[in-house]
Amino acid sequence: MPIKPLTLADVLAAAKVIRGRADGTPLVPSQIPGLGQEMLLKLETTQPMGAFKLRGALTALAALPPDAPGVVCCSTGNHGRAIAYPAREMGLRAVVCMSALVPAAKVAGIRALGAEVRIIGRSQDDAAKESRALVATEGLVEIPPFDDARVIAGQGTIGLELLAARPDLSTLLLPLSGGGLAAGVALAAKAIKPGLRVIGISMERGAAMQASIAAGHPVAVTEYPSLADSLGGGIGLQNRLTLALCRDLLDEVVLVDEVAIRDAMQALFFHDRMVAEGSAVVGLAAVMTGAVRLGGPAATILTGRNTDMTSFADIVAGRDLQIGDIFLKGRPYGA
Ligand SMILES: *Cc1c(COP(=O)(O)O)cnc(C)c1O
Repeated sequence: MPIKPLTLADVLAAAKVIRGRADGTPLVPSQIPGLGQEMLLKLETTQPMGAFKLRGALTALAALPPDAPGVVCCSTGNHGRAIAYPAREMGLRAVVCMSALVPAAKVAGIRALGAEVRIIGRSQDDAAKESRALVATEGLVEIPPFDDARVIAGQGTIGLELLAARPDLSTLLLPLSGGGLAAGVALAAKAIKPGLRVIGISMERGAAMQASIAAGHPVAVTEYPSLADSLGGGIGLQNRLTLALCRDLLDEVVLVDEVAIRDAMQALFFHDRMVAEGSAVVGLAAVMTGAVRLGGPAATILTGRNTDMTSFADIVAGRDLQIGDIFLKGRPYGA
């Protein structure tokens, strides 16, 4: 069955669904020195549940059949929380499947919302298999974290808000994992402003979308622990939507390493007084390292704030960090 292509109209429809519940986050200039150009931060960190994923989750839940016995999803943490929160309000059963790589703080946040949690395997793909199995055995409706037209349209509403606030933007830097965010935002933003430069940013190891675009088909990647834990996981070997959209709409994909992510989290804390996840600062990291050079006003999305506070405290204090097999020598900010 051919898939109906997503358009700006789908994103505009999603904007109506989420109005008053997950829209209108602030857009503020970063005070970090040396970025070269004005760099605006879209504060999805201020969303209920601490991440942009509520936009896609609300859009998908609004389309649920009225007799659905419940919903199931796989998640690196934030999608599960974004589903669990409105599901509880709706009195709907929610099951969230996650791998053992998901940080404890995120798992606890989901449990606290009353969702059922299943920890399966060591990768997002293992969690995705469990989620699909529960569709078959328990009749739950699956809400995928990124490869879903409604989820993509929901995330795309950020693109509408960015260009409504600042039509003069020349570059968008978008954290990139499964590509629901990047596909939706790029779709909306380029429909409004075709000449806009849109760059996806992933972490250096396990950058599934970049590898899949290069290969021309979805490829499996090894998942590693990372400060950008929300960017982990594959794009799904049966990817239907986000690979084609990211391939067609992103001008470039850039990778940043753990040191760059650590430095960006520190700088954001010291200059902007903000707490954000590693996944949220990859756009800043790409500019701070010079991997991306800006030619005009730019914006990035601070996608989430659900960082583990113990490691965040270590990062701002400049203490040594062990991230899986990677050791980062501590470095106090500005040293
Ligand atoms: C999910 C998530 C991303 C990546 O979004 P995709 O749609 O999977 O590309 C980035 N940052 C945070 C904080 C997230 O939760």
